[in-house]
Amino acid sequence: MDTIIPPEEKEDYLLNPVYLPPCEEKSKSKAQPVLTVIGIIFLFLLSAFILFIFVKPHIDMPKYLTTKGFSFSSLLQLSSPVNASALIQVEESIIKAKIDRRQYKGIELGNGIKAVIISDPDSSVGSAAVDIKVGTLADPLEMQGLAHFCEHMVFLESKEYPNLNEMQDKVSKSSGLTNAFTTLLDTNFFFQVSSGAFEETLDIFSHFFIDPIFTEKLMKDEVASVDSEYHRDINNDGWRLRLLFETLANPKSSLAKFSIGSIDSLITKPQSNGVDIVKTLRKFYDCHYSANSMTLAIVDNRPLEELEELTIKTFSKIPNKNVKLPDYSKEVMPFSEGYGNKLVQFIPNDPVRVLALIFNVESESEHPFLEAYEYLAEIISDIGNGSLYDVLSKKGLAHNLAAVKFVEAEPFDLFCIQVVLSDK
Ligand SMILES: [Zn+2]
Repeated sequence: MDTIIPPEEKEDYLLNPVYLPPCEEKSKSKAQPVLTVIGIIFLFLLSAFILFIFVKPHIDMPKYLTTKGFSFSSLLQLSSPVNASALIQVEESIIKAKIDRRQYKGIELGNGIKAVIISDPDSSVGSAAVDIKVGTLADPLEMQGLAHFCEHMVFLESKEYPNLNEMQDKVSKSSGLTNAFTTLLDTNFFFQVSSGAFEETLDIFSHFFIDPIFTEKLMKDEVASVDSEYHRDINNDGWRLRLLFETLANPKSSLAKFSIGSIDSLITKPQSNGVDIVKTLRKFYDCHYSANSMTLAIVDNRPLEELEELTIKTFSKIPNKNVKLPDYSKEVMPFSEGYGNKLVQFIPNDPVRVLALIFNVESESEHPFLEAYEYLAEIISDIGNGSLYDVLSKKGLAHNLAAVKFVEAEPFDLFCIQVVLSDK
């Protein structure tokens, strides 16, 4: 049995050395082919235009191009000033269930945002979600909880909509909901409102990613809000287990950080170490919140074409900073190299007795559709005759048994077998 270091003590030694992830630009090599394609399209349109001017009396140009395998309407769409930079890829062959009446389309905007738009004729509400490819693993050591804090800050005010409660008011008036959450690898924002209020709410929502405002006053208020979440959840066993994991992980791992955030980790300690908290927040936002790191999903009862137009109009304004997406694949496994093989006794607040066997397993990223751990989880969780649960239950030792892979982020994949024990 190991002594558990309380999170507060752990943070002290984690603060050394001071580390801030560099704001790396994505390699330009990937942008090059896109520019080349745009160049070729431009040259093609120019030649087509010259050809059209000189040969027009003899050839019906749209018909000519159509017979040659080109869709003139799509060429016109690409050549129009709004759409030339607004839409670079379309995916219409999305697989769906036969009984699903909704229509789907995948598009990639010129600024790099990938979006799935869904037209649901039966829906009376419209909703949207934006996912940013950054989570708590990207927290800098000198300002832990920053990804969560940044999520709070983004969802407040924008230059276009500077009233603090604009989004909340809009959502409440249309009996909707809105929220956001931060995981290890992602930050997700979403809302749902009545269909009539959808377009206006979508515009307010998009401006959180176009021109958010980070003032010192707002920061102080919002740190207090993060801190109150931390104190509210401090007795929740789920949160306590999360803190336990972060505390036990190899300090070389990005998991070994205090991810929730508090006044202490976001203001007091950073300031005492000379960290400019406004600059650090701004830098985190600039390094990670970019159109090329965002994915969008939109559902409403409008026709697909209308939703596509709305998506382009609203989200093309989000700047693409070509940021490099975080990559943790080369990191150490958090519970290897002397940080595994531990028996930890945890006293829960809830009156339950649980035995949890947790394995830091190899990633399945090379075989994403194999889902070997899913099969393993199914076999272990089986409750039929002769199963593990059946044996333990007949001996009066267990009330429940489940197996699950509960963290899916290379190299942080954790597989857990959990047995709810009886008093015996
Ligand atoms: Zn929060």
